[in-house]
Formats: sequence, structure tokens, C-alpha cells
Amino acid sequence: MDIDISCPNCGQIDFVQSVPALHAGGVSTSYGTNLYSGIGVSSAGLVPVIGTATVERTHTTALARSLAREPSQQPSGRLTVVGLLLLLPALILLAPAIGAIVMTHPQARTLGTWIGALFMVVVVAIPGSLVMGAVIARDLHNAKIRRGRPRAHTVWQAGFYCHRCGVAYWPHSPAPNVPARQPFTPPQFRWFVWNAGGYNNV
Ligand SMILES: [Zn+2]
Repeated sequence: MDIDISCPNCGQIDFVQSVPALHAGGVSTSYGTNLYSGIGVSSAGLVPVIGTATVERTHTTALARSLAREPSQQPSGRLTVVGLLLLLPALILLAPAIGAIVMTHPQARTLGTWIGALFMVVVVAIPGSLVMGAVIARDLHNAKIRRGRPRAHTVWQAGFYCHRCGVAYWPHSPAPNVPARQPFTPPQFRWFVWNAGGYNNV
């Protein structure tokens, strides 16, 4: 099967490149050293920690980014550690709170007993709970990107870009509702790819 990959705008193929090749050429990685600061747990309690770490940075050209296959993922690893650390004080307060409830005779327990015992636990748990809520939101966002990836990839990898005209197009339709041989601006091209992956409302 012969596929005409020429640009639907200028009809030429000399400045035409497939979108995956363009993307690979527009993304590079470098390594460097970053200063980090945070909070650590020691026998003396929470202590500030400062150090250096080797980091990997990804550089993407504006064109490669405008033709991105999917939205960027939101890392949640570090935030999970922060959230769990923030929940630690609440966990420590939980034992005496349970103790206070257990020590009260069942028939002597009132609503005040419960509120008095658990109030501080709940208050102290609020910051950690908020952070963990953000972690869950990020994980759901990332899971949605992973779920849509195969469909988005099918549409994305079939695309071509003409550097003369600045338009992206599909020589043949890779999926239903994706028109073939029609010039699109990079944002329009990305809309079709992200729509296939279900990302447009992410
Ligand atoms: Zn062209």
C-alpha cells in the first residue's frame, strides 16, 4: 500500500517529518546538581535537612511540546512522604485518645468524652489529610493519562508535520473522527490526539 505523505498544504515532501521523529529530535536530557531542602525524622524530632542531589532534566522545544502526545504527569512520590510525615503527629496522639476513651466507663461516656478525646487528633490530622488528598488527585490524573495512552499513541504516531507550512496532518486516518490529509495547526493536532486519549478535560 502506497501512502501519500506529502503536505496537504504545499504538496511537497522535502520539509516533512513524522511527529514521533520530530518529537525525538526536540527532546533532550541533561544532568546536573540541585540543592534540596526538606524535613527529616530523627530521635530529636523533626529536623531540617539540606543536601545536594544529581538531577535529570528534560528539555523540550516549543514545537515538540505543542505536539505532545499527552499532558505531563504530576509526580506524587515526594508529596506522599510529606503527607505521611504530617500525619505522624496525629497517629502519635491517637493512642492516648483511644486510651482516654477506653478508660472511661462505657456508661459514663458522653458526646463530650468522644469530642474531648478525638478533637486534637482531628485538628492535627488536617494538614496531612489535605496533602494526601492532593496526592490522590495527582494519582488519579496520572492513571487517566496511562489509561488513554494506547489510543492517543495510535493517533499521535501516525501524524506528520511540514516545517515549511507549520502544519500537522495525517496522511491517512488513524482512528475514527480523525480526518486525513487536512492541515492542522499544532494545537489543533494536539486536540485530536488528546481527544483520542480522553485528556482534553484533564
Ligand atoms: Zn507544507
